[in-house]
Amino acid sequence: MATAVAHLELDRPRCEGHGLCEEASPHLMHLDDDGELILDVTDIPEAELEAAKTAVRVCPVAALKLARA
Ligand code: SF4
Repeated sequence: MATAVAHLELDRPRCEGHGLCEEASPHLMHLDDDGELILDVTDIPEAELEAAKTAVRVCPVAALKLARA
């Protein structure tokens, strides 16, 4: 498994479930049937870093953040 270079975190109370992050990076996260965002990948390898950064950037309420692994 690839070494994680960052950790993706969700501030769940902030998340409004519009799914812009999912549209941007559908292989990292998805909305479940109740509209709750599920992070499918939280240990982000180098190859996924740009996708994770994009998801963080598109969130209109800053509910996602990347922390150092
Ligand atoms: S873009 Fe932000 S508010 Fe929308 S589902 Fe993703 S984390 Fe939640």
